[in-house]
Amino acid sequence: MGRMAGKVALVTGAASGLGEATARAFAREGAQVLLTDISDEGAAVAKAIGPAARFARQDVTDEDRWADILAEVDTTWERLDVLVNNAGISMFGLVTDLSFEQWRRCLSVDLDSVFLGTRAAIPLMRRGGGGSIINISSMAGITGQMALSAYCAAKGGVRLFSKAVALECAAARDGIRVNSVHPGIIDTPIFAATTSNERRSPVGAEPIDPQATAALVTPMGRAGRPEDIANACVYLASDESAYLTGTEVIVDGGYCAA
Ligand code: NAD
Repeated sequence: MGRMAGKVALVTGAASGLGEATARAFAREGAQVLLTDISDEGAAVAKAIGPAARFARQDVTDEDRWADILAEVDTTWERLDVLVNNAGISMFGLVTDLSFEQWRRCLSVDLDSVFLGTRAAIPLMRRGGGGSIINISSMAGITGQMALSAYCAAKGGVRLFSKAVALECAAARDGIRVNSVHPGIIDTPIFAATTSNERRSPVGAEPIDPQATAALVTPMGRAGRPEDIANACVYLASDESAYLTGTEVIVDGGYCAA
């Protein structure tokens, strides 16, 4: 408790899954949190968290909306210490089956949004003397994944974008740290959606079960919990990680070790 006392955080995609768990963990650790999401279900999550949390509807691909959101943070708290660029979608399909529209949609939600959010947040963080930008990538940003080429391209882009901006901030001596987090298979709606919408392996006809898949491909033999990612985000958001920038935190039950 209290590891983020006095900090103000913005978490995108916070109506569900990893974003929701991260917002809850931040509030538990003493932060004030603005949850945003394209889904209004984020309002109920913020209400359940309590007075430390607020909700604003946001499509993270909308450039103008980012300015509104940062203005709301400035008006409410006059500072921003932590940004978690978490909102994301998966895009399943063999490259030969992907439409250009699907490709662009995935790159827009999963990569363009990280650029827009980072660029929008830096001035307010600089005014407060620093901050921590946490970009949620994936194990698909470290290793290639079958039938996830657009998602891999976006998440790999998030990883190197984070490093490049970390260097810019370090050179500016602005106190802003930028890191990426790489979840493995975590039990949330995004993973269930990938495997239930496309309940067929691209190389075979067998249905795929999320937990069974995690048991097969993850060295630890199970899927992770949203809290496993939230805990990594608390560390990166707090001053405990003061000397970490430009690096990646892989939380995947050992998947990328193989
Ligand atoms: P999720 O589907 O539970 O949550 C994603 C949230 O993002 C949803 O609330 C959704 O409404 C929101 N969202 C989608 N498009 C948006 C948009 N345009 N603007 C604003 N919000 C939008 O999924 P999750 O597992 O919690 O995923 C969170 C992040 O973690 C994503 O970036 C995802 O790629 C990444 N990730 C998840 C896993 C996993 O196994 N769950 C693994 C690796 C990476």
